[in-house]
Amino acid sequence: MFTLFIFILGLIIGSFLNVCIYRLPLGASIVTPPSHCFACGTRLKFWDLIPVISYIALRGRCRYCGAAFSLRYLLVELLTAFLFTWCFQVTGLGPELIKALIFISFLIVVAFIDYDHQLILDKVLIWLGGAGVFINLGLGFTGLTDMIAGSLLGGGLLLVIAIASRGGMGGGDIKFAACLGLWLGWKLTLLALFLSFLLGGVGGIVLLTLKRKGRKDFIPFGPFLALGAFFAGLYGWQILRWYFQHFMR
Ligand SMILES: [Zn+2]
Repeated sequence: MFTLFIFILGLIIGSFLNVCIYRLPLGASIVTPPSHCFACGTRLKFWDLIPVISYIALRGRCRYCGAAFSLRYLLVELLTAFLFTWCFQVTGLGPELIKALIFISFLIVVAFIDYDHQLILDKVLIWLGGAGVFINLGLGFTGLTDMIAGSLLGGGLLLVIAIASRGGMGGGDIKFAACLGLWLGWKLTLLALFLSFLLGGVGGIVLLTLKRKGRKDFIPFGPFLALGAFFAGLYGWQILRWYFQHFMR
């Protein structure tokens, strides 16, 4: 029963994340004006904003002018709901769940904006970093020293890679990794980076094979960092324990 509640919460939050993903890169406020149709400008009524259901009921079109809404809105809502439910299955009910849900919300916003615009916004990162420190200290997860170490390690490693690869890594990625360090502490940050390079390598090969991206195309690294951080945040300690049991005896 509570799973259903988390799923619906995910749909509602996902609907808000859509607004963030769409408006933040434009420098627009995420609070005002209230949601309106991008085509005809008609302000959407409360019932037009009910996630998924209104989309299906209106077949993805504006009630007033018939312009098609991007399927992406539906996708982000469902993805958020799916990931929220996933987190709940892993963490159960408790402070860990609060941390996981806030973390995943930020990761979704950063990943999609980076995918759309090859850009990781400072104003999002400031909130991400600040929320990480606040939650870790407030709920007693990660100590301050560990957070700072994670931040320096994450940002530092990507800085070295950025210099070595002559621009294969952007300044946004470096700052993003530094903020992830504040959430994860240094051990899980290291794991998150390792996972994102692994996933980035696989993802790059897949995109090249599917010819979605050419060899010269720029593939943003932010979404892979977000994926790595998601798995490290949720399964990090299990992965590390498994690794040390099998390979470090
Ligand atoms: Zn319209």
